[in-house]
Amino acid sequence: MDTDVNTQFLEGTCFFCLTKTHKAWCYWCEQDFIQDKHRCPVCARNTSTPKACGSCLKHQPFFTCTRVLFDYKYPGNHLIKTFKFNDRPELAHSFADKLAGILTNDDPLPEILIPVPLHKHRQRERGYNQSLEFASSIGKQLGITVNTTLCRRTIDTKRQSTLPMKIRKNNVKGAFKLTDANPFDYAAIVDDVITTGSTTNEIASLLIKSGCRRVDVWAIARTQI
Ligand SMILES: [Zn+2]
Ligand SMILES: [Zn+2]
Repeated sequence: MDTDVNTQFLEGTCFFCLTKTHKAWCYWCEQDFIQDKHRCPVCARNTSTPKACGSCLKHQPFFTCTRVLFDYKYPGNHLIKTFKFNDRPELAHSFADKLAGILTNDDPLPEILIPVPLHKHRQRERGYNQSLEFASSIGKQLGITVNTTLCRRTIDTKRQSTLPMKIRKNNVKGAFKLTDANPFDYAAIVDDVITTGSTTNEIASLLIKSGCRRVDVWAIARTQI
């Protein structure tokens, strides 16, 4: 992983090239990281066709559809690191803007957004939950309520990014709980970066088993593994 990450953010300029813009990044730099790609509609892995990938056909996840803005790699990963670790929650508006832009009129809208919760210790340490910031911005743009009370993280799991892929699934098993009866029929789980999809699948399984008819996943980026 690169250590000389650019985490500077100058008001009124593009994060990447410092061109003047009223947005977080300029049109030209955007072409480098937000690209039209074929993705598996279920899990958003890159595929050669717009059909479900082999992994989703073999083990169908509990969620129906995943939307992401870009792959978690250079240069978009710098934006996410800045969003997450450098206290730039306002970047959420730019990400939400783009996510609203990739949804088409044919996309059904969920009745509720559920940001992936941080454990209370982690949230206290960081000061804010990046997935909640992202969800709140999307909620405002699309007029969808954000729910932060139904799903709780009850176990302060090790950071997924520090664990080998094979262990990540078990790391989140049983880490979340629903605090109440689920009144929703169609929900979207909102996350910042999807890696294996185990976290979102764990939450989706709770929602489906408690009566949701459909659960989608909306995230900023996806690691291609
Ligand atoms: Zn630029
Ligand atoms: Zn897939």
